[in-house]
Amino acid sequence: MRDGFGRQIDYLRISVTDRCNFRCHYCMPEQQTFLPRIELLDYAEIALLSDRFIDHGIRKIRLTGGEPLVRRDIGLLMRQLGAHVAAGRLDELTLTTNGSRLRAHADDILAANIRRINVSLDSLDADRFAKITRGGQLNEVLDGIAAVRAMGIAVRINMVALRGINEDEIVPMVRFCGDNGLDLAVIETMPLGDGVAGRTDHFIALEEFCVPLHAHWKLDSLPHRTAGPARYWQIEPLGVRLGLITPMSDNFCDDCNRLRLTTDGKIYMCLGSSLHVDLRAAIREEGVAGVDRLLQKALKLKPERHDFERQMADRSLRLARHMNATGG
Ligand code: SAM
Ligand code: SF4
Repeated sequence: MRDGFGRQIDYLRISVTDRCNFRCHYCMPEQQTFLPRIELLDYAEIALLSDRFIDHGIRKIRLTGGEPLVRRDIGLLMRQLGAHVAAGRLDELTLTTNGSRLRAHADDILAANIRRINVSLDSLDADRFAKITRGGQLNEVLDGIAAVRAMGIAVRINMVALRGINEDEIVPMVRFCGDNGLDLAVIETMPLGDGVAGRTDHFIALEEFCVPLHAHWKLDSLPHRTAGPARYWQIEPLGVRLGLITPMSDNFCDDCNRLRLTTDGKIYMCLGSSLHVDLRAAIREEGVAGVDRLLQKALKLKPERHDFERQMADRSLRLARHMNATGG
């Protein structure tokens, strides 16, 4: 699949639920309303759509949400999609999770041929962690990480950089990653969703957030840049790979290779755009032929780049959609 700007699209992110057991301040308001169950794609529909996407050239799928591990029987879907990896039809199935249910699902993850996961962790201080997530238990997340690491699954920590909240934690986080054999990605906050308090107040550019690292370690720039929104550095002698995800201060759209399937079956071509096609209606009314037709349309809709800078500056331009619906 190629979009209207010639970019090859081979990466699909699926938001399997918009629900979550956390309420991270930057992601959703405390009183979030969720989609009624009937609006969600069921597992058979997700499996069928994934199959079709793979036929069209998708080589990598990431399950996200909301919190993917809170959806009932998620192990069944993981195993079904993981079978494509075993059959060589997919290069990789991965997962982004808040880690709170990782230990309970570690066996499912292994059985689904998932060998790398991203775990969100913004603070190593239990009180601060509970405040940021509005109720999350740090010990459960750390225990989950230990469980999957013991199985040989690679973990990358996703840390959102928050001015005045976790600015003093980049050095301890890098040490934690070094001690536990984890990679780290630091992420700038994006102006997604309405009613999410104080996010612009907490925005900090990563260049500034990462300044304390230079007093402790040598950072070697890695030439390797995946078709994605991160630049990588190697922190020696810890051996930690550090990814900087800078949607705000360094536009990264030129080699974007991804599509996003929402919980209710819409395909969004860009996190920063409201343009989409509705595959749920297509699959329920027309079957696979409708899906193929809409996919071609979706490829033409992919914008050249997002416009977070203007959305950050002008509230009226912001998208009503929250990160949990589209999938981070
Ligand atoms: N619940 C899972 C988790 O937290 O990892 C998966 C979904 S979550 C929406 C995916 C990622 O998006 C997380 O790493 C989270 O920190 C990030 N995220 C959520 N809202 C964001 C925002 N406004 N700006 C930047 N990153 C955000
Ligand atoms: Fe839930 Fe993830 Fe959003 Fe936090 S970032 S509220 S864990 S979906």
